[in-house]
Amino acid sequence: MKLTYIGTAAAEAIPALFCECSFCENARRAGGRELRKRSGAVVNDDLMIDFSPDAYLGTLAAGKKLTDIKSVIFTHSHSDHFCPAELGYRRAPAFCIVPEDKPLLQLYGNRNIEEGIKGTFGEDLAFHGLRFTFVPPYTPFETEGYTVTPLSVVHCLPEDAYIYLIEKDGVRLLYANDTGVFPEKTFEYLKGIKLDIVSLDCTMGFSKNEVGHMGFPANLKVKRILEENGCVKDDTVFISHHFSHNGLRTPDGLWTYEYFTEMAREHGFIMSYDGLVVEK
Ligand SMILES: [Zn+2]
Ligand SMILES: [Zn+2]
Ligand SMILES: [Zn+2]
Repeated sequence: MKLTYIGTAAAEAIPALFCECSFCENARRAGGRELRKRSGAVVNDDLMIDFSPDAYLGTLAAGKKLTDIKSVIFTHSHSDHFCPAELGYRRAPAFCIVPEDKPLLQLYGNRNIEEGIKGTFGEDLAFHGLRFTFVPPYTPFETEGYTVTPLSVVHCLPEDAYIYLIEKDGVRLLYANDTGVFPEKTFEYLKGIKLDIVSLDCTMGFSKNEVGHMGFPANLKVKRILEENGCVKDDTVFISHHFSHNGLRTPDGLWTYEYFTEMAREHGFIMSYDGLVVEK
């Protein structure tokens, strides 16, 4: 399984669109891994997680083709993860030319995503080249050779935000943002399931925040609980992901990619960056 990050920032990106803070100014100067588009990822070449306003550029930059994507699974309806207007360009032949027998782009998500899709496109999704399926939490479903399980987290109540357990060919990925430390029911569901790749929300960076979003201390807490619950193997890869400039600008200095990478190494974490590929 190949996980490619096409964006790794929180809603306002890094540098944030209109921000003049020290972290954003440094990111503009430094470029490279300090520049972060809105979050999203592609599994192998055909499964996409979230569709942000930067999904188009993010896939282009990472060498991924939106034409290869068969399914998109949505975590929640915040605009940095769910940009339905962009999906409107799947309508053929108005905006794209595709083989006549090309399957519809399959979309999966919670009730808020369903509302957003239908609110944007109406009931005739096929006309737009799309198909939507509501997926309830804690219930695995199959899409294009993947077994995908949405798990509920607390992020933007009353919306039932999801993280996803994604399995293919015996490899398991847990993709977990946006979320605080997981609720008990989700830890319970994962108990004993061996994970190969764990990608955790780290929006708050140095902050000890545990609710709604995590900082790095909460990432360590989740890792510890997963270890206690028998979910971690010797070679499980842990990744901190989905960063805000506000969490990386500390009272003592800037948590740049280089700083974070050095700091996180001893805790067994790597820092996501746009274009990072993790293979298992
Ligand atoms: Zn977000
Ligand atoms: Zn800033
Ligand atoms: Zn969010």
